[in-house]
Formats: sequence, structure tokens, C-alpha cells
Amino acid sequence: LSEKLQETFKRLKGKGKLKEEDVNEAMREVRVALLEADVNFKVVKDFVAKVKERCIGQEVLESLSPAQQVIKIVHEEMIELMGGASGKILIASKPPTVILLLGLQGAGKTTHAAKLANMLKKQGKHPLLVACDIYRPAAIKQLQVLGEQIKVPVFSMGHEDPTKIAQASIVHANQNGQDVVIIDTAGRLHINEELMTELREIKSAVKPHEILLVVDAMTGQDAVNVAQSFHSELGLDGVILTKLDGDTRGGGALSIKAVTGCTIKFVGIGEKMDAIEAFHPDRMASRILGMGDVLTLIEKAQESFDQKKAKEMEEKLRKHEFTLDDFLDQMQQMKKMGPLSSILEMIPGVGKQLKDVQIDEKDTARVEAIIRSMTKEERRKPVIIKDSRKKRIAKGSGTSVQDVGRLIKQFEQMQKMMKQFSNPGAMGMFGGGKK
Ligand code: GDP
Ligand code: MG
Repeated sequence: LSEKLQETFKRLKGKGKLKEEDVNEAMREVRVALLEADVNFKVVKDFVAKVKERCIGQEVLESLSPAQQVIKIVHEEMIELMGGASGKILIASKPPTVILLLGLQGAGKTTHAAKLANMLKKQGKHPLLVACDIYRPAAIKQLQVLGEQIKVPVFSMGHEDPTKIAQASIVHANQNGQDVVIIDTAGRLHINEELMTELREIKSAVKPHEILLVVDAMTGQDAVNVAQSFHSELGLDGVILTKLDGDTRGGGALSIKAVTGCTIKFVGIGEKMDAIEAFHPDRMASRILGMGDVLTLIEKAQESFDQKKAKEMEEKLRKHEFTLDDFLDQMQQMKKMGPLSSILEMIPGVGKQLKDVQIDEKDTARVEAIIRSMTKEERRKPVIIKDSRKKRIAKGSGTSVQDVGRLIKQFEQMQKMMKQFSNPGAMGMFGGGKK
């Protein structure tokens, strides 16, 4: 999905204003991209209409290019679409808090029961895992193994009736001071009446505080249909969207809230016990847009970057006149924006190349001292700095010859990198995009 969208946005680059026909064209492609990513048809329709309405007739912000402007709006609307409170388990006023996990076979219920227990344990709770999947061979064992791994007790009664097990587990928790009970249930390959009846019985027997549906993100549109059915049958309090580490399309995440009204509370991002996170609609939207944290970058740039300086810098970059003086200058500017490396990482495509150009924030003072110990000529043409000059600069700045050498090397690498990004599109990020 993100690739498709990036293509679309790229085409918007370099245009002066948000014109209706441009917006229409971009929205046609956004629509296709979303449908291909398995986002629900109705959701796509509403989404595109809303974004279009907001885009057309909107003033292009001084500091943003039209593409950035559209991305910003798409991003905001995606957050709206997936929004709502996330990552919180409602803790009951009178313990134990009962959490019922349900979902189809293979969705990740057992794994996430354990992940949740692990997370709550780290928050100082005393969870109890309950094995109510009595059908699948080795299901109880699986939960026991995970429980052992995270040092959380597992309550099981073999192949007894699941409702009875669930009820007994709460008595057990009360007797043993366990304040959260997490019930792992059996799934089926498909939704059927037998499954729903069983879950309804457990629900009415234990009155869970949280009924969480576990769905596999990789199933896209199916995940949405499953959520819809479970919600109408049992009433869900939230969704855990699993296997997001393998889902490149993001269609499920985008549709679930809009179609079912259920918020995604947590996401599973791997098989390990700590691979669970609170769901952040804003991060998910950035991820779907595939643009690193471009939005954050744009916002930061808007906040604190001196526009005039940026323009000058852009000019210099374009003419390849970027010197160590500018480097110093830019460093002062960047300080206001946060760590330099994190700024550069936010520019799409730069992240990978950055590994070689690590600039430690703690080094900033030293870098400053070194540059200030250089002559004007040296700052302009660092190539002339050979050993004897290095020695002099090191002495003047109270650093070592190695420090000086390293800085020059970093600067050269940065210069090289900046040349690659010194086209108007990339530098537009820093506010020089609109001419
Ligand atoms: P259940 O049938 O719903 O209980 O599903 P399980 O918890 O047994 O999980 C089924 C498979 O999916 C197992 O192999 C898990 O390791 C795997 N799995 C679960 N959650 C995730 C996840 O977030 N990411 C990945 N990559 N695998 C997962
Ligand atoms: Mg299971």
C-alpha cells in the first residue's frame, strides 16, 4: 500500500497550488491503492470523499508543498478512521479483572493471552492464565509452556466443560490473590453456532470486564467480517490485531474501527512474548503512508526551522557551496528540532544511508570547538586540512587529531548525502518547497 501511495504523492510534487483536478486525480489513485490493500469498499468511498472535500478549497500552507499538504490531510483522516482510546485494559474496581479472549483458530489467542499476561505482570499485576481450549490437542500444553516462560501460573482442568473451567478459575484467582484472569478459549476454522453458543455461555458465567477479539491482520477484509460477526453476537470491548509484522497492506487496521465501531486496543508484532504494543493510530497511519515520520518532520520543520535560513541553505546545497560553517550553522538550527540523526531518519530514503554518518549529540560541543578552531579557508575547503593543520586544530579546540579527522570525514559524507538530496523535492521538507 505504501509504495502505491508514495507513487501517487510523488506525482503531486512541484505543483504550485492544490487544484481540483490534481486532487481528483490523486484521490482516484488513493482509492485504487486502498482497495488493492483490501480496505473495505464503503470505508474507501467515505474516506476518499472526506479527504477530497478537505483538500479542495484548502489554502496551501506556506511551508508545505502541495504533496505534503495532501499527505497531511490523508494522514489526519486515517488517524480519525482508526482512532479512539487504545492500549488500556479496563481494570475492575473489585478484582479479579476478567479478560476473555476469543477468535478463530490460529488467530493468535493463546500467544496473546500470554503476551497480555506478561505485559500486565510487568505493570505490577498478578495475572492467571486459564486454559479453556479443550479441543485442540496440545492447546493446554501450549499455554502451560508459555506460562512457564513468563512465570505466570496457568489454570487448567483438562477437558472439562469450558464454562466450568472458567468459573472455577475465578474462584481459584480469588483464593490465590490473582487480580487479573485471562481466559484463552478455543477457536474454529470458521464462525459457527457451536462456537458462539460456547462463548456466550462462558460470557454469561464469568461476566468478563473485557471481551477482546483476536484477529489476524494478514487476513485483511476477512478480519473485518470476523470482527463484525463476533461483535454482533457477543459485543466486543476491543480488538487485538495480530501478525502485523507480516501484514504489509494494512487494510484490516484501516477498516475494523470504521466498519464495526470496535477500537483496536493492541497489536501483535511477532511471536515473542514482548511482541505486543498498544495500538497507535498515528503510527499506523504513518506506516501505511510508508513515509517514515514525514509528518512529524513537517510539523517540526514548521515549528522551528528558520525559513529564510532554509532557503539560503537550499541554494548553497544546490550550488554545492555547503561549507563547514554552514554545517555548524545547520547544527545550531537542528538543535532546536531534536537529534540530528532522528531528523535525517525521517526523510524517506535517507534512513539507511545514515548509519555511516552517526553524529552523536554529545559531540556537538566538540564539533563546534573544532570548527571554530579552523580558519575561514579551512572551513570552506576542508580538503586542505592535512596532518599539520589537523594537529593545530586539535590543539586549538582541546581535542585529538582523530577527532578532527573524524569530523572532516563525517562532514564529507554528509556533503555527499546532501548532494543526493539537494533536489527541490527533498529540500522542500525544510520549508523551501514552495517557490
Ligand atoms: P490460536 O489458535 O488463536 O490460539 O493461535 P496461536 O496463539 O496458537 O497462534 C498461532 C500461530 O501464530 C503461532 O505459531 C504463533 O506463534 C503465531 N503468532 C501469533 N501471534 C503472532 C504475531 O503477532 N506475529 C507473528 N509473526 N506470529 C504470531
Ligand atoms: Mg489457542
